[in-house]
This record gives sequence, structure tokens and C-alpha cells, in this order.
Amino acid sequence: MDFNDTAEEAAFRADVRRFLEVNAKRKSATETAHRGRYIPDANLAESLARAKEWQAKKADAGFAAITWPRKWRGRGGSPIEQVIYNLEEANYAVPRGAFEIGLGMCIPTMMAYATPQQLERHVRPALRGKEVWCQLFSEPAAGSDLAGLRTRAERSGDDWIINGQKIWTSGAHFADFGIIVTRTDPGVPKHQGLTFFFLSMKSPGIEVRRIKQISGTSNFNEVFFTDVRVPDSQRLGNVGDGWKVSLTTLMNERLAVGDAPGPDFDDIFALARSLELDEGPAIRNPAVREKLADWYVKTVGLKYTKFRTMTALSRGQTPGPEASITKLVSASKLQEIASYGIDLMGMTGAVMDGEIAPMEAWFQEALLYAPGLRIAGGSDEILRNIIAERVLGLPGDIRPDKDVPFRDLKSGKR
Ligand SMILES: Cc1cc2nc3c(=O)[nH]c(=O)nc-3n(C[C@H](O)[C@H](O)[C@H](O)COP(=O)(O)OP(=O)(O)OC[C@H]3O[C@@H](n4cnc5c(N)ncnc54)[C@H](O)[C@@H]3O)c2cc1C
Repeated sequence: MDFNDTAEEAAFRADVRRFLEVNAKRKSATETAHRGRYIPDANLAESLARAKEWQAKKADAGFAAITWPRKWRGRGGSPIEQVIYNLEEANYAVPRGAFEIGLGMCIPTMMAYATPQQLERHVRPALRGKEVWCQLFSEPAAGSDLAGLRTRAERSGDDWIINGQKIWTSGAHFADFGIIVTRTDPGVPKHQGLTFFFLSMKSPGIEVRRIKQISGTSNFNEVFFTDVRVPDSQRLGNVGDGWKVSLTTLMNERLAVGDAPGPDFDDIFALARSLELDEGPAIRNPAVREKLADWYVKTVGLKYTKFRTMTALSRGQTPGPEASITKLVSASKLQEIASYGIDLMGMTGAVMDGEIAPMEAWFQEALLYAPGLRIAGGSDEILRNIIAERVLGLPGDIRPDKDVPFRDLKSGKR
């Protein structure tokens, strides 16, 4: 494992710090680190405009897409430089969250499959935040088992006609474009009958319905398709190759080395130091200390697991299953820390109002968004399957439907 920056990485980090110091506001000790992760619902238009302005600034400075080739106005940099940028940017209060799916997953898929003219039209506006993209994959009956999706696309002359429903589509309510995987042939096994497109989210026949989340916000949506026409020229990959194209998108998702947004060990430690329990300061309580010790051990374990990922990236290798371990442990740790912090607060733990709750209700908000983190980008059980198969060498999950035509599956019948 390499723990230190190489000379080039150190020089890059210094460049990033200079840019951020001049153009962004450093987070204060009291400012909660999660702010800026999503585009908030309140004043959506204004928040989105601020996020777009920041994105354009980043793009102009060459930090918006560090690994993209220069010809697409990226920096031609390495994945490790992207990780360094992300880690440094996390120290600043900047509006993020609107472009991660587009730049992290949709445009890289376009780069692998779209025509030069299409890239000319779409890459730059996405990079500068002018146009936002969303990912239309999950359906009510297809999430972990994405290949079980039912949204149909049928050929009609030079167009395809799409009918069906997607769900959990983050940012669809403000997206301009989306990538979508559809079923075009139900007569073959489920992975073989899929075809991939990109489309305008303003196409007639698309209806976006916000989903109200337990936190009170609505970051994701149901998206309904009724006779939506998409030209064949917007097909990405061959007819029937939609699964292969989807894997390109998902590989890019796995490359994102994201931290679960806090509160983390330092924050629960600070909370325990600040609170008085009936029998004295929380930090002196043996049960509290035992919990803190557990989270400290997990936090250090995660730090070194992330170093493994960074080492692989730094050497130009594709990271192994470490990213699954990091995601599995950090999302559940976040949920435990949030829950315990609220318990420690006693009656005030029930207060959601950031004006009066301790630490701007950070723990309360985290308790409500942590379950989503344990599902998005691979649920706990799916990650455990990956670790079981790829790290422990256990037998693979049973896949009885692998060779059966989709229309003959129980889940495939309409
Ligand atoms: C915050 C958030 C944002 C999201 N954004 C998007 C987005 O922008 N675009 C998009 O397309 N989707 C998005 N999703 C959807 C996400 O990809 C799915 O929720 C996820 O893939 C799980 O699918 P599911 O919800 O259908 O659950 P299911 O797959 O139905 O799983 C239900 C339960 O069964 C378990 N399970 C399933 N299969 C197995 C198995 N083989 N072995 C053991 N256990 C299993 C799961 O772990 C889970 O506990 C988002 C989800 C969240 C929470």
C-alpha cells in the first residue's frame, strides 16, 4: 500500500487546493458536511442555478472531469487525481449532487457508444452543468435484478416507441436528458433482449412524479413512459446489447470512491464530549466509550481499505472488491452513529429543526438518509454476495432464470 502522494500527485493536490481556496468557502467546524450533497427542494430553481454556476467554474478550471480526454475538455488525468480532487472538495461548502450521475455514469457511457456528432452536441453542456442527465434503470420489479426490467421499446420505422415505468430516478425532476435501458425482445433470456438509448426528458409522453421521502425531501422520482418516440439514431450499442452497455454505466458507478456523508467518528466523539448524561459527561460513560472504540476501529479499517483502492487507482489498475467493502461498512456505520447520537441527545434527539437541534439536526437527517445509502449503488446483501464470491471464493448466487426466455419467466409475464 502507498500512503503518500507521489510528486505529481502532491503537485496536483496543491493546484486543487489553490483553486478551491480562491473560489469556494471552506466548511466551518459547525457547518454540517452533508450540506450540498443533494440539490435541496426548497428554492429548487435557485439552488440548481447556484450548482450550475459552480460546475461551470470547475469546468473552466479543468477540474470538472479529470479523467476525461482533453478532446472532450477533460484534463486527461488519472482516476487517483479524481479521488484527490473529490477528497479536497469535500472540505468546502460547494453545491454538488446535480451532476454526479450525468458526468460519472451517463456521459462516460455516451463516450463509449455515441457518435462523434452526438458527443459534440452533448458533452460540453453536460460538463459545464448547462444540461443535467439522469439514469433511468430501476423499475418497480427490477433493481438488484436489473435485467428483469419490463419497460418495452418497439420499433416503428426510424423510431422506437417506449412504454413502461422507471422508479427511484434521482434528479429526473430537473434533468434535461436521460439514459434508459429497455426490453426489445421478450423471446430471449432476460439479459439478451435489452436495448439502450438516450433521450430528452422533455420528450412528449414522459411524466415525472416526485417521490416524497421519509426525510421530507423528494430527490428521486417515478418516471412514466407513454408512447415516447426515440429516434433509432439515439440507440447506444446494438439492438439486444443493452446489458453490455448497462455494464459500462455500472462499471463507472463502481469507480466512484465516495464516502458516506457524515456524521462520522469525530462527530459522535465531539457530541459525546459536549453532552451531560444523568451520571456525568457522556464521554466518561463506559458504554459510550465502548461504542466509540468500536467506531474508531471501523473508521481506521475503512481508511486503510480506501488506501487499497487508491493504491490500485494510482498504479493504473482497476480496484477490486474493496469498494464494495467500503460501501457496505460505511453506510451501516453511518446509520448506527446517527441512531446512537440521537439516543444520546435524549429528548432533543426528537427535534428535527436545524435551528434548535444540536449540530443543526445533522444526526437526525442522517438517520433518515442512511437507509437509502444502504440500498443505492448495490444493497448490503448484493455487496455481501460480491464479497462472498470474489473475496471468500464461495459458490455463486443461484441463477435458475439465466437461460429461460424472459416471457416464460413468472416475473416476465404481463
Ligand atoms: C438514494 C437512492 C437513489 C437511487 N437513484 C437511482 C437512479 O438515479 N436511477 C436508477 O435507475 N435507480 C436508482 N436507485 C435505485 C437503486 O438502484 C435500487 O434501489 C437498487 O438497485 C435496489 O433495487 P430495489 O430497490 O428494486 O430492491 P430489490 O432489488 O427488490 O431488493 C429488495 C431486497 O432484497 C435483497 N436482495 C435482492 N436480490 C438479492 C440477492 N440476489 N441475494 C440476497 N438478497 C437480495 C436486497 O438486498 C433488498 O434488501 C436509487 C436508490 C436509492 C436508495
